[in-house]
Amino acid sequence: MESVLIIRYGEISLKGANRHYFEDTLVKNIKSRLKNYPGLNITKGDSRIYLEPGNNDPQTLLAELTGVFGVVSVSIASRFPAELEQIYNAARQAVARTLQERPIKSFKVQSRRGNKQFPLESLEISRRVGAAVLEAFPQIEVDVHHPDLTVYVEVRELAYVYTEKIPGPGGMPYGTNGKALLLLSGGIDSPVAGWLMAKRGVVIEALHFHSYPFTSERAQEKVFELVRILCRSCLQIVLHSINLLEIQQAIKASCPEEYFTIISRRFMMYIAEAIADRRKCQALITGENIGQVASQTIEGLQVTNAAVRLPVFRPLLAMDKREIVDWAVKIGTYDVSVEPYEDCCTVFLPKHPVTKPRLEKVAALEAPLMIPTLVAQALAKIETQVFRA
Ligand code: ATP
Ligand code: MG
Repeated sequence: MESVLIIRYGEISLKGANRHYFEDTLVKNIKSRLKNYPGLNITKGDSRIYLEPGNNDPQTLLAELTGVFGVVSVSIASRFPAELEQIYNAARQAVARTLQERPIKSFKVQSRRGNKQFPLESLEISRRVGAAVLEAFPQIEVDVHHPDLTVYVEVRELAYVYTEKIPGPGGMPYGTNGKALLLLSGGIDSPVAGWLMAKRGVVIEALHFHSYPFTSERAQEKVFELVRILCRSCLQIVLHSINLLEIQQAIKASCPEEYFTIISRRFMMYIAEAIADRRKCQALITGENIGQVASQTIEGLQVTNAAVRLPVFRPLLAMDKREIVDWAVKIGTYDVSVEPYEDCCTVFLPKHPVTKPRLEKVAALEAPLMIPTLVAQALAKIETQVFRA
């Protein structure tokens, strides 16, 4: 009897002709995630992936795997020849292990027969395995509706027994859905927006605007830390940093105060699109959310959007703040995001930003600003770093 990890990947198995591409990318991503664990053996089969752990601790591998995009769930199973006595044995061992960890009063057996050569149907397998377990542990009983423990039996080429299915993030394998540029502030929202798009297989590149020396080095360090956290799921992220201060000063000098934020945001979009084009990113991603702040009214988003030709993805658009915070906690960015360092948006923040900007008005106000020159000057001082998991 050997230990093997069963890695399930739901949605990809529906992808028809492209299925192999998605599966192979998932296998590749799993391999790079586990590159520091020697002696692993990974195989595809039965619409899942099997991982033989070698001398590594299966629990440690499981913890890594449940962070890989595309993974729906993972189980640590015993694997052995498809033979009834061995299945009974494995089921009893699984129950004994559970009883050492926690008290249980009831169980059920859930079986699947993938190998139709096997003489018993799945219901009959469950019935017999259940009886074998009851014989060994008379203190527990069968409860098919609300059992304290489910013993899963799968009869395929070989047989598998396990008791837990630990959920992964789901989504699509990273790298299977193009590439987009994430506008990453130090706030709560944008790291979550990036993570959610990455979960759908989109490769993320990041762009951060600072106003150094008005914003501190510590504020930039905070963004680096957020990128490092995102790298746990994305393996590698290219981060571009741009100093927005000169542009902010130009806007402040010539535009009415209440238009400062919306025009700054349009400049962010101009610069983002130029970088996206250079770096072959096919879309922009922001953490914008309808109604959250003055620049995120529907009129504000309309005016921001009109600055660029690329699609702008806003995966948080319809979420409540509470939901966004829950995601931030879940993906591990929250504690860093709430560190109190000045963001470039808080430099020159107007007291009463326009909440219903009109595009013609905004365009007329920013027209005298020599936009291409300002954008080119900011781009000339771009700093680019690569972060790796
Ligand atoms: P966040 O929590 O992501 O900062 P927010 O609710 O504070 O979002 P804004 O400050 O209005 O909202 O920013 C909206 C979006 O614009 C951000 O989610 C982010 O995508 C982008 N953005 C804002 N500031 C910056 C910045 N300094 N660098 C890069 N992108 C930024
Ligand atoms: Mg912000």
